[in-house]
Amino acid sequence: MQTESKEGLLRLALEASGQRFTEQRAAVYDVLMGTDRHPTADEVFLSVRHHLPGISLATVYKSLETLVGCGLALKLTYGDGSARYDGRTDPHHHARCVACGKVSDIEGSLPGPQLETLREHAGNFMVTGYRLELTGYCPDCAPQASASA
Ligand code: ZN
Ligand code: MN
Repeated sequence: MQTESKEGLLRLALEASGQRFTEQRAAVYDVLMGTDRHPTADEVFLSVRHHLPGISLATVYKSLETLVGCGLALKLTYGDGSARYDGRTDPHHHARCVACGKVSDIEGSLPGPQLETLREHAGNFMVTGYRLELTGYCPDCAPQASASA
Protein backbone atom coordinates (compact mmCIF):
# COMPACT_ATOMS: atom_id res chain seq x y z
CA MET A 1 0.00 0.00 0.00
CA GLN A 2 1.10 3.55 -0.78
CA THR A 3 0.71 4.76 2.81
CA GLU A 4 2.68 1.79 4.14
CA SER A 5 5.80 2.65 2.14
CA LYS A 6 5.43 6.36 2.87
CA GLU A 7 5.31 5.53 6.58
CA GLY A 8 8.30 3.26 6.19
CA LEU A 9 10.35 6.07 4.66
CA LEU A 10 9.35 8.49 7.42
CA ARG A 11 10.25 5.90 10.04
CA LEU A 12 13.70 5.46 8.50
CA ALA A 13 14.29 9.21 8.25
CA LEU A 14 13.25 9.79 11.88
CA GLU A 15 15.33 6.89 13.17
CA ALA A 16 18.37 8.09 11.20
CA SER A 17 18.22 11.23 13.39
CA GLY A 18 17.67 9.23 16.57
CA GLN A 19 13.95 10.03 16.73
CA ARG A 20 11.09 7.62 17.23
CA PHE A 21 8.31 7.16 14.70
CA THR A 22 4.99 8.13 16.30
CA GLU A 23 1.46 8.27 14.98
CA GLN A 24 1.38 11.99 15.84
CA ARG A 25 4.58 12.80 13.94
CA ALA A 26 3.31 10.81 10.95
CA ALA A 27 -0.01 12.69 10.95
CA VAL A 28 1.74 16.07 11.15
CA TYR A 29 4.12 15.05 8.36
CA ASP A 30 1.15 13.96 6.22
CA VAL A 31 -0.46 17.38 6.58
CA LEU A 32 2.77 19.13 5.53
CA MET A 33 3.29 16.85 2.54
CA GLY A 34 -0.31 17.26 1.44
CA THR A 35 -0.21 21.04 1.03
CA ASP A 36 1.87 23.71 -0.67
CA ARG A 37 0.33 26.46 1.45
CA HIS A 38 3.12 26.65 4.05
CA PRO A 39 0.80 26.36 7.05
CA THR A 40 1.37 27.86 10.49
CA ALA A 41 1.45 25.49 13.48
CA ASP A 42 -2.16 26.48 14.24
CA GLU A 43 -3.24 25.57 10.71
CA VAL A 44 -1.44 22.22 10.93
CA PHE A 45 -3.18 21.62 14.26
CA LEU A 46 -6.64 22.32 12.80
CA SER A 47 -5.96 20.01 9.88
CA VAL A 48 -4.34 17.15 11.81
CA ARG A 49 -7.22 17.09 14.31
CA HIS A 50 -9.45 15.58 11.61
CA HIS A 51 -7.27 12.47 11.68
CA LEU A 52 -6.21 12.48 15.32
CA PRO A 53 -8.97 14.23 17.31
CA GLY A 54 -7.09 13.88 20.62
CA ILE A 55 -3.85 15.56 19.53
CA SER A 56 -2.84 18.75 21.38
CA LEU A 57 -1.40 21.93 19.91
CA ALA A 58 1.71 21.39 22.03
CA THR A 59 2.25 17.96 20.46
CA VAL A 60 1.81 19.45 17.00
CA TYR A 61 4.43 22.11 17.82
CA LYS A 62 6.88 19.51 19.11
CA SER A 63 6.26 17.22 16.14
CA LEU A 64 6.89 20.10 13.72
CA GLU A 65 10.15 20.99 15.47
CA THR A 66 11.23 17.34 15.40
CA LEU A 67 10.54 17.10 11.66
CA VAL A 68 12.51 20.32 11.08
CA GLY A 69 15.36 19.01 13.22
CA CYS A 70 15.48 15.83 11.13
CA GLY A 71 15.58 17.82 7.88
CA LEU A 72 12.14 16.54 6.87
CA ALA A 73 10.56 19.99 6.84
CA LEU A 74 11.59 23.62 6.68
CA LYS A 75 10.64 26.32 9.16
CA LEU A 76 10.15 29.74 7.62
CA THR A 77 10.46 32.40 10.30
CA TYR A 78 9.47 36.04 10.03
CA GLY A 79 10.40 39.27 11.70
CA ASP A 80 7.17 39.42 13.70
CA GLY A 81 8.03 36.10 15.36
CA SER A 82 5.56 34.06 13.33
CA ALA A 83 6.55 30.87 11.55
CA ARG A 84 5.31 28.70 8.71
CA TYR A 85 6.26 25.14 7.86
CA ASP A 86 7.16 23.62 4.52
CA GLY A 87 7.18 19.90 3.72
CA ARG A 88 9.16 20.63 0.58
CA THR A 89 12.89 20.59 1.30
CA ASP A 90 14.44 20.69 -2.19
CA PRO A 91 15.92 24.07 -3.27
CA HIS A 92 13.21 26.59 -4.12
CA HIS A 93 12.29 30.18 -3.35
CA HIS A 94 9.24 31.75 -1.76
CA ALA A 95 6.98 34.68 -2.53
CA ARG A 96 5.20 36.19 0.46
CA CYS A 97 2.19 38.45 0.20
CA VAL A 98 2.72 41.45 2.49
CA ALA A 99 -1.05 41.95 2.73
CA CYS A 100 -2.45 38.50 3.60
CA GLY A 101 0.74 36.65 4.51
CA LYS A 102 0.21 33.88 1.95
CA VAL A 103 3.46 32.15 0.98
CA SER A 104 3.85 30.36 -2.35
CA ASP A 105 6.66 28.42 -3.99
CA ILE A 106 8.81 29.93 -6.72
CA GLU A 107 10.86 27.47 -8.72
CA GLY A 108 14.57 27.84 -9.19
CA SER A 109 17.80 28.44 -7.33
CA LEU A 110 20.37 31.22 -7.47
CA PRO A 111 22.87 30.66 -10.34
CA GLY A 112 26.28 29.50 -9.11
CA PRO A 113 28.17 32.70 -10.16
CA GLN A 114 25.70 34.91 -8.27
CA LEU A 115 26.04 32.77 -5.17
CA GLU A 116 29.83 32.99 -5.49
CA THR A 117 29.64 36.79 -5.71
CA LEU A 118 27.54 36.91 -2.53
CA ARG A 119 30.01 34.57 -0.86
CA GLU A 120 32.84 36.97 -1.74
CA HIS A 121 30.88 39.95 -0.35
CA ALA A 122 30.31 37.97 2.85
CA GLY A 123 34.09 38.05 3.48
CA ASN A 124 35.05 35.88 6.43
CA PHE A 125 31.42 34.98 7.16
CA MET A 126 31.14 31.23 6.47
CA VAL A 127 28.14 30.82 4.17
CA THR A 128 26.26 27.53 4.57
CA GLY A 129 23.09 28.43 2.71
CA TYR A 130 20.75 31.21 1.74
CA ARG A 131 17.09 32.11 1.67
CA LEU A 132 15.50 34.18 -1.05
CA GLU A 133 12.04 35.55 -0.42
CA LEU A 134 10.15 37.68 -2.88
CA THR A 135 7.71 40.07 -1.24
CA GLY A 136 4.73 41.77 -2.82
CA TYR A 137 1.03 41.20 -3.40
CA CYS A 138 -0.69 37.92 -4.28
CA PRO A 139 -3.39 37.94 -7.01
CA ASP A 140 -6.13 38.25 -4.36
CA CYS A 141 -4.55 41.30 -2.74
CA ALA A 142 -2.99 43.13 -5.71
CA PRO A 143 -6.11 45.05 -6.97
CA GLN A 144 -6.89 46.43 -3.49
CA ALA A 145 -3.27 47.37 -2.99
CA SER A 146 -3.09 49.40 -6.21
CA ALA A 147 -6.45 51.05 -5.44
CA SER A 148 -5.34 52.27 -2.02
CA ALA A 149 -1.84 53.26 -3.17
ZN1 ZN B 1 -2.37 38.27 -0.43
MN1 MN C 1 7.99 26.08 -0.15
